[in-house]
Amino acid sequence: MAKSLVIVESPAKAKTISKILGKDFEVVPSMGHIVDLPRTRMGVDIENNFKPNFIVVSKRKKILSQIKAQAKKAKKIYLATDPDREGEAIAWNIKEKLNANKEYLRVVFHEITVSAIKESFAHPANLDQNKVNAQTGRRVLDRLVGYLLSPLLWRKITGGLSAGRVQSVAVRLVVEREREIQKFVPQEYWEIGAELKKITSQFVAKLEKIDGQKVEIKNQGEAQQIVEDLNGKQFVVSEIKEAEKKRNPYPPFITSTLQQDAFYKLRFSSSRTMLVAQQLYEGVELGKEGAVGLITYMRTDSVNVASSALSEVRNFINDKFGKEYLPDQPNIYKSKKRAQEAHEAIRPASVSRIPGSLKEFLTSEQFKLYTLIYNRFVASQMKPAIYAVTSADIKADKYLFKASGSKPAFKGFTAIYEDQEEKEEKSALPLLEKNEALELVKLIPSQHFTKPPPRFSEATLVKTLEEEGIGRPSTYAPIIQTIIYRDYVRRIKGYLHPTELGFKVNDLLVGYFAEVMDVRFTANMEEELDEIEEGRLEWMKVVNDFYGPFKGSLDYANETIQKEVITTDEICAQCGKPMVVKWSRKGKFLSCSDFPNCRYAKAITTGIKCPQEGCPGELIERRSRRGPFYGCTGYPKCTYTAKTLPDKEAESGRQENG
Ligand SMILES: [Zn+2]
Ligand SMILES: [Zn+2]
Repeated sequence: MAKSLVIVESPAKAKTISKILGKDFEVVPSMGHIVDLPRTRMGVDIENNFKPNFIVVSKRKKILSQIKAQAKKAKKIYLATDPDREGEAIAWNIKEKLNANKEYLRVVFHEITVSAIKESFAHPANLDQNKVNAQTGRRVLDRLVGYLLSPLLWRKITGGLSAGRVQSVAVRLVVEREREIQKFVPQEYWEIGAELKKITSQFVAKLEKIDGQKVEIKNQGEAQQIVEDLNGKQFVVSEIKEAEKKRNPYPPFITSTLQQDAFYKLRFSSSRTMLVAQQLYEGVELGKEGAVGLITYMRTDSVNVASSALSEVRNFINDKFGKEYLPDQPNIYKSKKRAQEAHEAIRPASVSRIPGSLKEFLTSEQFKLYTLIYNRFVASQMKPAIYAVTSADIKADKYLFKASGSKPAFKGFTAIYEDQEEKEEKSALPLLEKNEALELVKLIPSQHFTKPPPRFSEATLVKTLEEEGIGRPSTYAPIIQTIIYRDYVRRIKGYLHPTELGFKVNDLLVGYFAEVMDVRFTANMEEELDEIEEGRLEWMKVVNDFYGPFKGSLDYANETIQKEVITTDEICAQCGKPMVVKWSRKGKFLSCSDFPNCRYAKAITTGIKCPQEGCPGELIERRSRRGPFYGCTGYPKCTYTAKTLPDKEAESGRQENG
């Protein structure tokens, strides 16, 4: 009997599925997209309803002909690509290239396990044209923006730059945050703590009110005055409150929360998290057992959990932790409004595979991420943690101090999942009684300054993209990777700093394309793509509605944009004319204003002398595939390089893209 052909994206996935399906099925990887828009042309026919011209990717020609040959022999062809728009589009494009007289079956599963694969092959469906359309709409919109905007950047700033529909808005968020930080004026304020003692135990209470008014201490003088006034006063407990505080478990991971938690706890970048999660999803060799899919699909915005997984985890909690840790009913979490209800949260394929039992088969990164996903999922179905919180009011004449402490009363879900907030939990207070006098050990005045809003980390940027509605599970990691790769933003010690180029490109785009660069507008665009997927909008209409106003801004920009000229006090060493600042893809440099008649140009250096002995050169920032570094103006005579300037730390933002 002829075998059935199963088409998936990657070799790892093919291997895992092949093991489950057995010898009647031939499983082949397409290696991702077989077709795409051309690299050298826009490939979108604006006059003809924005028809995209998808062509076979040259690197995939060989694979396509192999798949064609295998398809000829096969009776049935199963399209088993990932369960989202992109997977649907990959499957659809492959089908388009194959013989139409075959039986094509779409199989959808969210985990690569025996039960999920068997179930999906028992109930195959047709391709979802709406999903394919949503993906086409996104691709065409992104192409129009990228292809038509980028040349403006070349004319105004320099060649080789590029703009992107969602990426440019992400850069805008980073740039605007940086400007808030630059504008921020720190305000000085002081706090006064009282270290108090009862028998042998000490604790610190904080001054909150004076004469019933909230305390505000602006400077050292005021703080000193209060300290003097408090001297010799008696500290008496005026009120004690005991309360029980509950902390609920978190929902199981979705793409955005997984990226955030992996950043905080494992210091993984978003793209690293997605890469490792994909390995766990597609299958890892577990010794004699062969390749096994360990987690559910990693691109999701749904917190749904399959009922079989729910009963499995509830049994596990009951056995492992005891029934006091198990809620009477499963914990139910709500996804945000447009989340794909057919999707599932990211969870272990089976809680019976405890992380420790897999350690020898996983890389260290796979093990860490699997453990995080595993613990978060188990915790999500456990009872809340309970803390006994004590708060005390302590009076010293007209001064009111407050102290609070808490101690865990029941671990609940924190028995398995480390809670960020829990670490900040205060230690317990000694047992206090109302009207009890306390011994003052010392007063502790301390100086503080108000802080500017923090720079984005990858985690907080992903959170913001999600909250603003301008990212989707499949786009968070690529957005961040792209803006760093293009050097609009650099990652320095985990935080995102816009570059000078980032500021410049952003200001130009915001100036001419207010709408495209608007967060709300972009969020609305994403919603319209969702509506295409739901079959409520046509992709061509969405693109057309966008294109009209966009073309208007584009025409205006094309007419009015001119290369700006920034003159300097420097004089050309060859012809004596003034030098002007110009940009290249590598950054700023000085050029003779008489270019192209005079071709003299020189680098703008950091002004720091080359530390190489006897070298008259200065250090200058350069870029390589590995990221920015500092070299000497005397190159190639002097080959000094350094990752950072002698007095400045500048960690590369591109380690992972080099
Ligand atoms: Zn000159
Ligand atoms: Zn040098």
